[in-house]
Amino acid sequence: DQGKPKAPVATARPDHVRHVVVVGSGKGGVGKSTVSLNLALGLKRLGLRVGWLDADIYGPSAPVMLGITTPPTFDDNKHMVPPVAFGLKVNSVGFLVDADQAMIWRGPMASQALTQLLTQTAWGSADVPLDVLIVDLPPGTGDVQLTLTQKTLIDGAVVVSTPQDMALIDARRAVTLFGKTGTKVLGVVENMAYFLGADGTAIEIFGRGGARRMAEGLDLPFLGEVPLDPGLRQASDDAAPLQTGVMAERFDEMAKALWAQL
Ligand code: ADP
Repeated sequence: DQGKPKAPVATARPDHVRHVVVVGSGKGGVGKSTVSLNLALGLKRLGLRVGWLDADIYGPSAPVMLGITTPPTFDDNKHMVPPVAFGLKVNSVGFLVDADQAMIWRGPMASQALTQLLTQTAWGSADVPLDVLIVDLPPGTGDVQLTLTQKTLIDGAVVVSTPQDMALIDARRAVTLFGKTGTKVLGVVENMAYFLGADGTAIEIFGRGGARRMAEGLDLPFLGEVPLDPGLRQASDDAAPLQTGVMAERFDEMAKALWAQL
């Protein structure tokens, strides 16, 4: 039981968006952006209309991971028209200001920017609504996460963690925060679960299975594990996300499990 919401909760999603799913983590650097982007691409490969909002003020990743260099344009209603990359409609806090500036924002400014990105982006239209908007949150359990739940109705959250104890303690805290704001946790993803050596043995660098056990212990759906994979890292750095192969298929499976709950 995640408990009753303790703060006011929004009752509407952004215009022309059918479902909003946030992706959070307790700690930074656990692969939240990597997982959220690849989940978004997995949902897209299922044939859905998908948007990805890069709301990580501490390190916007859309420009690098997707190679988007042109910021959104504006339509007649002064809404941002998001650039499209790999079939995803994308907006990023990195398009609003330069990254160094966003880092030093105080809570209210960050929340305001996020609200603007959510509600003043033309994610869809009355005729062609977006099926799912994936929001890549900043790591942690701060103001931004809290205000977001007060500004827009969220269908659920995905929590990304490595299996390491340090990461899991913070991931648990993220789960608690979502519970307090009445946001249903739709799944836990264990990233960097192991590394497959050349001879095929799994090397469990951060101790495999921790996030899976946390999910089971808290009675939350476990979406799957993602190994440490040089190809996945390279794909992010090259702005060439993996769309086929074993890794992409993993994300397809996770996307299916996620969509089944929406
Ligand atoms: P976060 O959003 O949690 O800060 P990122 O998604 O930016 O984390 O990932 C941090 C770094 O680790 C990036 O360089 C990313 O490419 C790399 N990374 C994340 N997940 C994996 C993985 N499963 N295999 C290899 N590299 C990964």
